[in-house]
Amino acid sequence: MTVTVPLNDGNAIPTLGLGVYQAHGREAYDAVRHALDVGYRHVDTAAMYGNEEQVGEAVRDSGLPREEVFVTTKVWNDDHGYERAIRACEVSLRRLALDHIDLYLVHWPVPGLRLDTWRALVDLRARGLVRSIGVSNYMVDHLDELAGASDVVPAVNQFELTPYNFQARRDVIARCVDDGIAVEGYSPVTRGRRLGDPSLRAIADAYDRTPAQVLIRWHVQHGFVVIPKSTNPGRIEENADVFDWELSEEDLARLDGFDEDLAVSWDPTGAP
Ligand code: NDP
Repeated sequence: MTVTVPLNDGNAIPTLGLGVYQAHGREAYDAVRHALDVGYRHVDTAAMYGNEEQVGEAVRDSGLPREEVFVTTKVWNDDHGYERAIRACEVSLRRLALDHIDLYLVHWPVPGLRLDTWRALVDLRARGLVRSIGVSNYMVDHLDELAGASDVVPAVNQFELTPYNFQARRDVIARCVDDGIAVEGYSPVTRGRRLGDPSLRAIADAYDRTPAQVLIRWHVQHGFVVIPKSTNPGRIEENADVFDWELSEEDLARLDGFDEDLAVSWDPTGAP
């Protein structure tokens, strides 16, 4: 669980993180505490999730040195623009009650002000309030626009990624690889929607693993960062048990071909 992916700014991000979207209050706190207790070292939250306070509290209460836990949060859609994004980050830091954010992401490529938002993130990094900066739900056109306006390449691009939409994301993945942007997959276990897929189950059975573990292991073997969400202690542990076994090249290729252009969260394809 200490495996990391190097970032283009010299930092490194733990391959596995705990997602906390739709985890609220005590539930979010308990999930993060349990995850950190069993070895997770990375938590993915956002201002929009409404649980930064609980995430920060759980990180502090864990007793782990701050440097050992990687915390991501994101600037929400109504906080775009230079000044607003700066303020949004300061508010997130206050809610987290941490002295820095490890990774600060633009949550969604809202048209209009997103280049100003990016300038704010660059300045927040220069001030040391955030260690790494990146984007989320950016497709190739969004990355092109950003590259035309800024010399600072995002460290990470976080978007929905599973075998079920892999083919549709090959172009943006290739672009990220070319630019040295780490790919981070969200909704990695399809919010449960494909865990009963017979083709996935057959592979899981062959390894005596669960379908969720096969999906998460698929990310790990591709070199993607992966952030499954669970508030269930057993599933938090299950999702992390993906580092001492591996899928064969043949099964990896089979999973790559599961494509059905599935989107269980929002789909940025064609977003202006
Ligand atoms: P996931 O694919 O992680 O699925 C989470 C759901 O699956 C929950 O209902 C969870 O239930 C269930 N689940 C988790 N593990 C298992 C398992 N082993 N077996 C069966 N069911 C399981 O979806 P998310 O959309 O939550 O994505 C993960 C994270 O990615 C988010 O929490 C968030 O941090 C991030 N994200 C980012 C977005 C962005 O725009 N940047 C958009 C969407 C997500 P239970 O809790 O009961 O275990």
